[in-house]
Amino acid sequence: MNDPVPTTCMRCAVGCGHLTGRVDSGYGIDGVRGDVAHPTNRGLACSRGIDETQNPDGEWLTRPHVRQEGELRRTTWDVALSRIVDEFSDALDRNRDGLAVLGSGQQTNEAAYALGKLARGGFGTRHYDANTTLCMASAVTAYNDAFGSDAPPPTYDDVEDATTHVVWGANPAVAHPVLFRWIVESATDGESRLIVVDPVETKTAKAGDRHVAPEPGTDLALARAVLARVIERGEVDEAFVEEATTGFGALRAELPDPESAAATAGVSLATVEALVDALRDPTLVYWGMGVNQSAQGTDTAGALIDLCLATGNMGPGSGPFSLTGQANSMGTRVCSSKGSWPGMRSFEDPAERRTIAEAWGVPVERLPDDPGPGPVGICEAIGDGPVEALWAVATNPAAGLPDASAARERLRETFLVVQDAFHTDTTELADVVLPAATWGESDGTAMNMERRISRVRPASDLAPAVRTDLDIITSIGEALVPGLFPATEPEAVFDEFAALTAGTDADCSGVSYDRLREERAVRWPAPSAKSAGGYRYHDDGDWSFRTPSGRARFSTGTHAGVPEPTDESYPLTLTTGRESDGYNTGIRSRDGDAASAVVARVNPDTVERLNGEAESAGEASPADEGEAGEAETGEKAAIAADETACLTSRRGSIPVRVTVDTAVPAGTVWLPIHRGATNELTLPVTDPRSDEPNYKQCAVALEPTTDGVAAEEQARTKPTADD
Ligand code: SF4
Repeated sequence: MNDPVPTTCMRCAVGCGHLTGRVDSGYGIDGVRGDVAHPTNRGLACSRGIDETQNPDGEWLTRPHVRQEGELRRTTWDVALSRIVDEFSDALDRNRDGLAVLGSGQQTNEAAYALGKLARGGFGTRHYDANTTLCMASAVTAYNDAFGSDAPPPTYDDVEDATTHVVWGANPAVAHPVLFRWIVESATDGESRLIVVDPVETKTAKAGDRHVAPEPGTDLALARAVLARVIERGEVDEAFVEEATTGFGALRAELPDPESAAATAGVSLATVEALVDALRDPTLVYWGMGVNQSAQGTDTAGALIDLCLATGNMGPGSGPFSLTGQANSMGTRVCSSKGSWPGMRSFEDPAERRTIAEAWGVPVERLPDDPGPGPVGICEAIGDGPVEALWAVATNPAAGLPDASAARERLRETFLVVQDAFHTDTTELADVVLPAATWGESDGTAMNMERRISRVRPASDLAPAVRTDLDIITSIGEALVPGLFPATEPEAVFDEFAALTAGTDADCSGVSYDRLREERAVRWPAPSAKSAGGYRYHDDGDWSFRTPSGRARFSTGTHAGVPEPTDESYPLTLTTGRESDGYNTGIRSRDGDAASAVVARVNPDTVERLNGEAESAGEASPADEGEAGEAETGEKAAIAADETACLTSRRGSIPVRVTVDTAVPAGTVWLPIHRGATNELTLPVTDPRSDEPNYKQCAVALEPTTDGVAAEEQARTKPTADD
């Protein structure tokens, strides 16, 4: 490896340090390996992080483009930026909320900070958010509710000290390989154990000591059943609850009886008892998208925090630990002014708004006083609201938003600017495309899921017509809001951000590029050049939460039913999940088969039941030996393994290739999140507190394709319950 450059893997939020090599000539990366000097991973790395850093599969953007006469055509940066400035100015002149901005957990802290400064302080728009709201917003809201502050209390240091590891609605074996290795190492030590709660028997569940499989969308019912049984069995940590919490009485009054809540979740009371038993030992409760991406995601994340509070599982080796997906999702929370001001200052607090306005040199009345409706609401504000122009930075809403066809129709109606390193589903709709640098080419920092800040350094020069996110953002900002960016270099922008966090919960003011050069990575809060964060809220030995009372707050949410139950027309439940090598909406990991049907995993009992029902109704001619495709033209065949079928929800229909898999429960269909087609089907219902979409559950129908008729065409003609 030539002249290795220490940097941070931007593939996932574990935040491993990498060493990347420079190519002898041209652009690109020559070799990647784990950095033994990095305190996060001490040399460990996963093949996915290495492969996608070195050789991503995506189609690179190398030139700016503008749409002319209906076609995207190559252009110069001057032409592209001038078109953007004209259109954005017009939109802002009519209504400050008429310009929408979507950022990403893939940006560096510096770019995220600059984009938020421009969107909120320069444009003054409510319609600004990031794709991190699609993943982590429910956890953020639940942390703020419980602790008065965002981010998990534990760190990676606590993993080896835990006795019980409960992984709830997450698949770290696939999504966070290095962290999962630490969890498994700890869970196989002596009396330790790994319990996995997931409707699907994932790779993580297969590695666990116990797999608990609730019905999709019933996690809250299960969490409440466990807590109700904790109380019935007298397992509450009364001393901790008395000393350090409020609201336990109100929660207790709302709890269901454990038997009925367990039945709602589709699990036995014995399973609930096993979870109660496990919580007696020091327990880390990890959770992911299976919890957050729900119409009741905030309530469910809150219920998992409640389990930790009630059982005294707070403190080293225990506690609630949300697993962040995108590499810099935490940085977006701390830097980007998306749902809180830099340093996680409260959006609603007038004093905090004045502080920010003064620091940025903008009128305080320009700063919006609420954080806006989230990405789904922003998209709905095209056509149904004031949004006339939308700027998407390192995000792919055309594939990533639920009910993607409807989202695409709206995106077509607006002046759309897409800034990205790769061709995406959204660039196809854009009026202007800006080619941006990606990791390996960018300079800055990122924050991992345990609050550690680490440098991101370029190992490759930029291709001639490619510019960094920070450069593009500050250039557009300088043209529209002169003087907003006195600092435009990454280090100076970081220093500006860090100074704004002084005295806040997320104090990064003791972190500098010089310090990061010495230490590789520093965990916040770090209020001085020598300090670094550890387990939160009890640094001085006493519990001190950031709520007005100084105590942690229990929540009271209870299961309210799934937002789209199955019925006669849509008898199956769709759920979604990650594949090992899939990258978010697949932009960096598509292997050339994007046009092929999405793989749908289905339990063999489901296939048998559907075929049996169709046969009894006289609608199908099951083919011999489970083989499909033998029906005569125009006649329906049976659903069969490795054959194409048609999957339909109330939003749309897609062809899928059926894979029979006993890991998926009967009555459920599993699709990968990495294919844009998946979101043709998903439900645009969001959690009312966090604005996070309910990606994990909706009702669908699976039918055999009719020979000679495209699956989409066949399904669109299918009568729906709403017809
Ligand atoms: S675990 Fe995540 S951060 Fe670490 S090397 Fe793998 S992809 Fe990169």
